[in-house]
Amino acid sequence: MLSVTKRFSFESAHWLTGHPHCGSVHGHSFILEVTVQGVMNGLGMVVDFHVLKEIVDPYVDTLDHATINDVMLTDKVPGGWDYPTAERLLLWFVDRIEQGIKNCEEWPKEASCSRLRLWETVKNFAECVPNPVSSGPYLLDEYLQTLRSEQTAASPEEIKASLERLFDRVRKETHGSAPAPELEPAPVPIESLG
Ligand SMILES: [Zn+2]
Repeated sequence: MLSVTKRFSFESAHWLTGHPHCGSVHGHSFILEVTVQGVMNGLGMVVDFHVLKEIVDPYVDTLDHATINDVMLTDKVPGGWDYPTAERLLLWFVDRIEQGIKNCEEWPKEASCSRLRLWETVKNFAECVPNPVSSGPYLLDEYLQTLRSEQTAASPEEIKASLERLFDRVRKETHGSAPAPELEPAPVPIESLG
């Protein structure tokens, strides 16, 4: 499987309320990496970088020279307005980019977003692999639901059960679709033939 990655950059401020090191307002130069996997079309592209840019740029622009806490408050991200971690910000991007892909008429149907990585500093990044096993929009939807359930008050048992259901379906899709091989009829012993 081929993949392409595009990088985006933006400068934003945030604070994590009460955190001993990150509690004061401070800024980061963020890098967002969006990886798309798929197959090469007749033009030699998995996806046109310009198509990807048109999908992602509006969200990058929303955050550039803005305060992330305010954006999270406006978008009603639970916990995001007083604790906008790199993980929460990454999931904010995942939701929006996924929606942007669904709404994009130029998006190749074989292509899917296979990894997003948000660098908060040169040393620290958060990563999301929306579709770790197989490609297909329905699996991605389900995986994102799992991620969202982790953001709410789902118990560890509920999350585990949800992941097990997901991977069970992936296993069936990957291995369960081939028909069972037909068994050869058992040879008839010579002495019983006559
Ligand atoms: Zn910070």
